[in-house]
Amino acid sequence: MYAIGIDIGGTKIAGALISLDGNISEMNRVPSPASSAAEMEDAIVAMAKTLLDNRDVSGIGIAAAGFIDADGSTVLYAPNISWRSEPLREKLQARIGSNIVIENDANAAGWAEYRFGAGRGYTHMTMLTSGTGVGGAVIIDGRLVRGGFGAAGELGHVRVVNEGLECGCGAHGCLEQYASGRALLRIASERARALPAGTPLRAALETDGTMDPDALRALLEDGDPNAHEALTEVAHWLGRGCASIAAVLDPQIFVIGGGVASAGAALLDPVRASFQREMSARGFHPEPDFAIAELVNDAGVVGAADLARERSRLD
Ligand SMILES: [Zn+2]
Repeated sequence: MYAIGIDIGGTKIAGALISLDGNISEMNRVPSPASSAAEMEDAIVAMAKTLLDNRDVSGIGIAAAGFIDADGSTVLYAPNISWRSEPLREKLQARIGSNIVIENDANAAGWAEYRFGAGRGYTHMTMLTSGTGVGGAVIIDGRLVRGGFGAAGELGHVRVVNEGLECGCGAHGCLEQYASGRALLRIASERARALPAGTPLRAALETDGTMDPDALRALLEDGDPNAHEALTEVAHWLGRGCASIAAVLDPQIFVIGGGVASAGAALLDPVRASFQREMSARGFHPEPDFAIAELVNDAGVVGAADLARERSRLD
């Protein structure tokens, strides 16, 4: 039997029909009307009805950025859409009729990695997603940890620098300010400005002094040493974050996803080295594995669908 996963992004909505083993049998994408909550709701309903097409599905999971209550029914706060304490499940259920759950997008992606990707075979997994920001998901004993208020796993807001850079969350020194894709661009541009004219990384600067993301990606792929030093700095912060997180959660594996993870081993090796330097009880605490996420763009829809199936099984 199928389940449906719908992933609401800032620029597009992706929806897919997912089989029991996590495979995608039909996938649709439409532009995301993020500026209007009413149009967003209409777009989700239309996407769900297209995929349903009179099929019998075990559930519909909807992944969205923001705080979702632990029941998967109310969007408490969404950063990109004007949902505030929005009873989204109730509204959608009235219009679609099927069994619906709402999940945080990073939790959905983490669950997909745990069930079908890099976290397969483990029972305690922590995922960090380094994209525009830094997201997280925590699996303990085979279960997704949503927390008492639905806001667990916000690992980008673990503090790694005392009195550090101001974060969008209102605090200072959060991991997100040092280990996101945006942080990589900032660190690379700072390094580039200190280099002699004509150095490739310096040539990748835009006229306003910011780093051109495509040029940086190309330099990383070419093995440019200055670009890799910037990546290693991001990896250092990620490793430090993982060391603090391990002291609380003790995962068997850290899975690193998001755009920055496309660097693969060039990111993972220095993350592991930094973790080893900074972990508590070094030499006595067994070391977790580190892996790059496998499902990349499809993790949101796959995880949301599987979590909907999981909830319908438990209900
Ligand atoms: Zn923060």
